[in-house]
Amino acid sequence: MKTLASDISDIEHHVEKYGTESLRERDEWGYTPAHWAALDGNVEIMRYIVDRGAAIDLPCLGTQGPRPIHWACRKGHAAVVQVLLQAGVAVNAADFKGLTPLMTACMFGRTATAAYLLGMGALNHLLDINGDTAMHWAAYKGHADLIKLLMYSGANLQKPDHFGSTPLHLACLSGSVTCVKLLCEKSNVDLEPLDKNDKTPLMLAQSHRHGDIVELLQSEIKKRSSWFPPMNEVWGLFFGKADNSKAPLLFFMCSVLLWGYPMYIIRCIPITWTVLRGSHYCFIYWNIVMWVCWLIANRKNPGYIPMNSESYYRAIKQIPYFDKWKKRNALLNRLCHTCRCLRPLRAKHCRICNRCVSYFDHHCPFIYNCVGLRNRTWFFLFVMSIAINCSFTIYFATYCITIEGFGIWYILGLLEAFVFSGLGWILTCTSVLHACMNLTTNEMFNYKRYTYLRDKRGKYFNPFSRGPILNLVEFFFCTPEDYEDDFGYEYI
Ligand SMILES: [Zn+2]
Ligand SMILES: [Zn+2]
Repeated sequence: MKTLASDISDIEHHVEKYGTESLRERDEWGYTPAHWAALDGNVEIMRYIVDRGAAIDLPCLGTQGPRPIHWACRKGHAAVVQVLLQAGVAVNAADFKGLTPLMTACMFGRTATAAYLLGMGALNHLLDINGDTAMHWAAYKGHADLIKLLMYSGANLQKPDHFGSTPLHLACLSGSVTCVKLLCEKSNVDLEPLDKNDKTPLMLAQSHRHGDIVELLQSEIKKRSSWFPPMNEVWGLFFGKADNSKAPLLFFMCSVLLWGYPMYIIRCIPITWTVLRGSHYCFIYWNIVMWVCWLIANRKNPGYIPMNSESYYRAIKQIPYFDKWKKRNALLNRLCHTCRCLRPLRAKHCRICNRCVSYFDHHCPFIYNCVGLRNRTWFFLFVMSIAINCSFTIYFATYCITIEGFGIWYILGLLEAFVFSGLGWILTCTSVLHACMNLTTNEMFNYKRYTYLRDKRGKYFNPFSRGPILNLVEFFFCTPEDYEDDFGYEYI
């Protein structure tokens, strides 16, 4: 019995005539009625089949053996998937080739269905018989939206399959520049891995004559190997790369505690205390401020969005009705499948903390914490106090030099103080500038990525800015309300 293009009354009539048993029969290709209802996306018929207790999860009799849920995913019928899952079908059910519903949705570019599956517990690391994950399939078929979605859900971007192909190899085969670009942007993705045939992604793009991808890859490879590090590398050097290395923090601690303070106590105080007493009091005061701010910025919750929030599950449940929903994509981009939360506008998932942070500014390795809504003022004071302290250090060091003459320790101290006070003042000024503009550092660097920072003609426009004065007041004095579980739902 083929249900495709039938309506419910035809089915009822058929079942009345031949009995419920007929819902269990297979057609000449081995498909059950549930398969055809899934392919057709007919929710009403699928519910009817479920209510009658007919089989809804049988693989067909072929080499692939898809179950009805695979067909529903293939066509992106999230509403049918919902009915099937509610009826007890496993969300990670595999066909004979190991394809899960999530892989099928990724293969056919069904973003909303894939998001729904992730929300319902689909696992993104499962492998098919060739060792491919959902990410491999999304890359191979050139679906950029799905690559993004899987990135948000913390999928592995580097994993080679049984042929040694990484998602980047497959994205090059797909011919989609957008997909290749998305993968290249991630600094932790190796651009020249070898597959089992000793081919790099670039070689594959060349042999398939994808000229634009070849160009993109060549420029990305050049950028990474260039002797002058690109902007984000310079940034990474000072403010930490996308790993949770403690090196910058250790460097800061050692240079202050093992080098700065001993020099100050042993060399500077004996020479200058009586003549520069006022300056010493100020220096000590700002050092206390610096440590207090460091401690608070390090300890304080930067504004983590609550995990496993109600609003996430509510949004997931809405996905099956998304076909009629205008703002579908905007909402899909705001679901974090790692934190299982609906990210408010301006929040971002920090890969190092592995949490979504409201008003995410950046992850600072010197305070070993994220800078976000709740600790940004403390971070600002910390940076400013470093700048002030380093300026005092320069002052003291030059004073000592005029009295005692040039000494190697003074020169070294002076150089370090110059670098740090320069950086401190640059950071202090940019922080004030960002505060005046009501913009986070992340938004400043990536404003092109955020649609909410563009006007209708695509030009930069900041809807949050209320003028420099009010923006500053908001930055320093607005105590944010505690985020309710369903914060941000109003944005939908
Ligand atoms: Zn998150
Ligand atoms: Zn972080």
